[in-house]
Amino acid sequence: MSSAANDVSDRSGQPRAWRLVIHGGCGVLERERMTPEDDAAARTALERALAAGAAILDRGGSALDAVEAAGRALEDDPHFNAGRGSVFTYQGTIEMDAAIMEGERRGAGAVNGVTATRNPISLARAVMEKSPHVFLSREGADEFSRLQGLEQAPPDYFGTPERRRQLEELRRQPGEDYFDIDVKYGTVGAVAVDVRGHVAAATSTGGLTGKRWGRIGDSPVIGAGTYADDRAGAVSATGAGEYFLRSAAAHEICARLRFSASQGEPPAPGQAQAIVDSVLGEIEEMGGSGGIILVTPWGEAVSRFTTPGMYRGEASPKGRSVAIYGDEGDAPTP
Ligand code: ASP
Repeated sequence: MSSAANDVSDRSGQPRAWRLVIHGGCGVLERERMTPEDDAAARTALERALAAGAAILDRGGSALDAVEAAGRALEDDPHFNAGRGSVFTYQGTIEMDAAIMEGERRGAGAVNGVTATRNPISLARAVMEKSPHVFLSREGADEFSRLQGLEQAPPDYFGTPERRRQLEELRRQPGEDYFDIDVKYGTVGAVAVDVRGHVAAATSTGGLTGKRWGRIGDSPVIGAGTYADDRAGAVSATGAGEYFLRSAAAHEICARLRFSASQGEPPAPGQAQAIVDSVLGEIEEMGGSGGIILVTPWGEAVSRFTTPGMYRGEASPKGRSVAIYGDEGDAPTP
């Protein structure tokens, strides 16, 4: 059975336009709090990630390859809390989580608590493609990574002096609640639709500063922080993971989109944004905050957040844009 999502052209016979949206986490990101150097460096990193993914999509490559490439570029940049630049656990170790999913067959791979893989998104992809499983954790995931020949890096590569300072600051806080949910989240994510109408999503994170007891957030959990389905869209989240887990946010958005799309026809214009806003609203009502990026197989892109800012960027054949603060105009394009 062929579906509209698998045709290279849309209903008017035009080639489908690819689309890529990325995020580098959300939180209290305000101009006054950011040095010009950090602002510029973050924008450069976002541009670099968009360029890596856009180059693939522009030559007709897959959404899956594009989200992996964009995600790896963000993982390699120490400004974001993923790969190099991951936050420290309470014990001062690095435990990274990542997931990747493609919407054609709904193939998915995820890892939790990995300590030495330079690019956890690529490890998640290896789980999806080279193992019979979906989700590997901790020592087992590290071992699988080595067996797959993925590039390994020492602890010093991941943890930067700034992340060490953040942990120390957290530990100085009175009380036993070493749980950093108020500052900025630096998780990275990418979602894309390719010229064939296939979607994919990837998310990677160090989690939360000072996390303990093997805490797992939403990012690597399929359906919570990451989801992709050609019948609906691709989603990557950032924010207070516990709330995205409890609302199964990424799957919830895709399920609502799937129900609003009928017989492969796109949902009404603005519907995708309304659904994202509604799920983020429910997360806020529960006490959480965060951001979501989404693309649909019909080429709609949405980037929304409840925090003052979110590192974000978008690319399509028409061009590229990046933004950080809430007042920067990047209204979702139809
Ligand atoms: N959602 C991530 C987590 O809870 C944190 C983030 O978005 O930075 O692990």
